[in-house]
Amino acid sequence: IESKKIKIALLGNPNVGKTSIFNALTGSRQIVANWPGVTVEKRTGVMKLANHTVDVVDLPGTYTLGATSLDERIARDFLINERPDVALVIGDAVNLERSLYLLLQVLELRGDVVLAVNAIDEARKAGFEIDKHELSKQLGIPVVLTSAVTGEGIEELKNTLIKSARSSSHVHYLFTDEIEASLRNLSDRIKGNASLSAFDQRWLSIKLLERDKEVEKLTGISLDYDYSIEIAETRYKYIKRILSSSVKG
Ligand code: GDP
Ligand code: MG
Ligand code: MG
Repeated sequence: IESKKIKIALLGNPNVGKTSIFNALTGSRQIVANWPGVTVEKRTGVMKLANHTVDVVDLPGTYTLGATSLDERIARDFLINERPDVALVIGDAVNLERSLYLLLQVLELRGDVVLAVNAIDEARKAGFEIDKHELSKQLGIPVVLTSAVTGEGIEELKNTLIKSARSSSHVHYLFTDEIEASLRNLSDRIKGNASLSAFDQRWLSIKLLERDKEVEKLTGISLDYDYSIEIAETRYKYIKRILSSSVKG
């Protein structure tokens, strides 16, 4: 039986080790080109594991999944339009809060996400203890601790990616009652629009409350209020709670 071709996208903050992990996953089986129409580097490669052949793409580094910078838009458009089977978020073990902020935004967009907490070698040196089981339980997604320098966790990451391409997880995290009510309201408005059926309604609604220009254009809806600060605060509060139970040091 021929197995379906799996597609994986790597994303993460700048300088967390995305390209290093990409190299560890794909070895020399890579192509470097540019993203269409722009001079931003695009790295694609092939990961082989047992009888699986997996396409891997290294997305530009980003802190959010907004539509303001070119890098953000490349990463976000790829997730939306190319629909990779797994979004692999590379986090920085030494700066996990900022990494998780991006991770939550990826989870708002889609379910199949794996987190690699990279530079675990440096975190250990700095005295951090990261409980990957607790982190995984709290986030509801697979978590692997990796070091692109020592090779720790790379085989586990490969196996986790293959497994995750066949399952789906969903994040359970809520905004304030007021924002949740607005999200329901907006989802109802979006539901009737057939041209938006490919998008996650909740994600579109969150972006409208954040006054995302691209999503405003796409939906034809533009609100006269802006909840982006409250939304960011909720994400950070959620992250702080998760970190307090899963990281010591
Ligand atoms: P990117 O910008 O996210 O693609 O990050 P790079 O892969 O270019 O790595 C940025 C820097 O971090 C380089 O100097 C890497 O050698 C280093 N680096 C990457 N992964 C690790 C890791 O697991 N441990 C340590 N100590 N350094 C790492
Ligand atoms: Mg870099
Ligand atoms: Mg890179």
